[in-house]
Amino acid sequence: MLVDIVPVGEVPARVKRGASAGLRSVYDFDVTVHEAQPLPSDAFDAGRNQYGAEAFIELAERVGDGVKNIAVTTEDLFYRRRNYVFGLAYLDGDGSVVSTYRLRTSSDGGFSDRNPEEIFGDRVRKEIVHEIGHTLGLEHCDNKRCVMNFSPTVREVDVKEEALCGSCQRTVR
Ligand SMILES: [Zn+2]
Ligand SMILES: [Zn+2]
Repeated sequence: MLVDIVPVGEVPARVKRGASAGLRSVYDFDVTVHEAQPLPSDAFDAGRNQYGAEAFIELAERVGDGVKNIAVTTEDLFYRRRNYVFGLAYLDGDGSVVSTYRLRTSSDGGFSDRNPEEIFGDRVRKEIVHEIGHTLGLEHCDNKRCVMNFSPTVREVDVKEEALCGSCQRTVR
């Protein structure tokens, strides 16, 4: 299966590389990186200084060349009543999105000897793998180590691993 990563706005090369590597290692998919797309200005909420997440999913679906497509942005996203989201995907949908904005925080998950860039990179890969998991039909998993565990803050992101638990693995195959 082909997954296309669609950078929206300015996205650093190492974020795109990390996203590709995460998807290849967990799902064994072919991964391409699309040319960067302009930010969806209609989705910007000036009062919140955030973008609505749905517009990024629509964009990924529209321009992406993959069976599944994931928009990646450094902008802050909101969705409905949630103040912010790390990402969004609809179950079994073709498009999804991940924002790196809130993944870069001072919290280091207790791994104080680790480089902040490494921690950030791990979080980005986990959230990319998580949102693509939803598009493959996976719902949230109760296993805190599973990448499909719901992670409302970076604390939970840091606890989970960049891998599907056995049960999620069986569901997706
Ligand atoms: Zn989720
Ligand atoms: Zn699981």
